[in-house]
Amino acid sequence: MSQAQGKWIIVGQGLAGTCLAWELWRRGVKFLMIDRGAGGSSRVAAGMVNPVTGKNFEPSWRIAEFLPEALAFYAEVESKLSRQLWYPFPVLRLAGSEREWRKICGKIDHPQVAPWVLGERPAPAGWIGAVAVKGGGRLDTRAFLDGSREFFTACGCYEVGEISQQDESPWVIRCEGAAGLLTERYGKPRCAKGEILTVRAAGWDETQIRIGAGGWLVPQGGGVFRVGSTYEWDELNDEPTPAGRQRVEEIASRLGGGGGFEVLGHAAGVRPILRRSEPLIGPVAAGGWMCNALGSKGSLYAPGLAARLARWLVDGGVAEPEVDFRIFSQHAHDHESD
Ligand SMILES: Cc1cc2nc3c(=O)[nH]c(=O)nc-3n(C[C@H](O)[C@H](O)[C@H](O)COP(=O)(O)OP(=O)(O)OC[C@H]3O[C@@H](n4cnc5c(N)ncnc54)[C@H](O)[C@@H]3O)c2cc1C
Repeated sequence: MSQAQGKWIIVGQGLAGTCLAWELWRRGVKFLMIDRGAGGSSRVAAGMVNPVTGKNFEPSWRIAEFLPEALAFYAEVESKLSRQLWYPFPVLRLAGSEREWRKICGKIDHPQVAPWVLGERPAPAGWIGAVAVKGGGRLDTRAFLDGSREFFTACGCYEVGEISQQDESPWVIRCEGAAGLLTERYGKPRCAKGEILTVRAAGWDETQIRIGAGGWLVPQGGGVFRVGSTYEWDELNDEPTPAGRQRVEEIASRLGGGGGFEVLGHAAGVRPILRRSEPLIGPVAAGGWMCNALGSKGSLYAPGLAARLARWLVDGGVAEPEVDFRIFSQHAHDHESD
């Protein structure tokens, strides 16, 4: 791949690279986006956004800023591509034990959590408690990636190709996801493999996302759901496994509420993680730029992250310290030398 001077090269057409491409495109900046055309967790992801997450029922990091940015971004791309990409859904958070339910109830009125809570709901059979959360939904990641790829191909801004790990050109912006983090060029990664099923089931609730039993169930329409997921830190590859399928089938049965289901698809990917799901951008000492570490929340953070990077690259602003890779890298280095 020859390096065109004066033109940004975005490496990777996952959520990070694609959002950045739109941000450069709307600024009228020359770029070429390159992807090796295979792999990437964005093509595996369910695209779900859940504002209040985890065992501790906590709002996602800086959600009050990143969610409105993401929704405005997807709405703009929807109108450019003339297709729906964002599907809003309430999220039904289910508690499977008294302990978990007490924890959730203890958080509901917390000032950071309360704005997202729609209220308590009757618990479905087999669950102790349920609470509905607003602001959730799913991005049709495939439609977003494929539609954007077609758009940028037609503009002459997209090519299938590969950039070597040795390329240190200042014009290269690496949006390589886990493939980039696993080279350890940004420090020690904490990537986690995840497996996901696409299932068809008659009679399951299609009006909300369900979260519980360590997993999630996301309606796709027409009786089809995506369900996940596993967390695995040792075998970091995109091979689906029988054990992963079994675990996700258990989640599906539990969240779907019985009645059986048919498995239509099974996929695996590696979440790009450096520090939880808190992404990073910035120049890299060896040369070029990085935009990575979206963790398990790429749909929520990629648009806002890309906007911050585009402002930094083009408009002359510097991103806030929390997302500045140089600062993260310095801290990580200081800890290592402690
Ligand atoms: C099972 C599973 C379910 C998930 N579900 C959700 C979900 O519901 N909601 C959510 O928000 N997130 C979810 N995620 C997380 C989400 O997938 C990531 O946060 C996000 O997709 C990361 O995007 P990315 O662009 O950084 O990386 P990627 O999607 O991995 O994209 C990187 C791209 O770069 C290409 N590439 C890498 N190196 C090179 C190179 N040297 N030259 C050329 N091309 C290169 C790769 O082929 C790839 O296409 C899930 C992840 C998994 C594994």
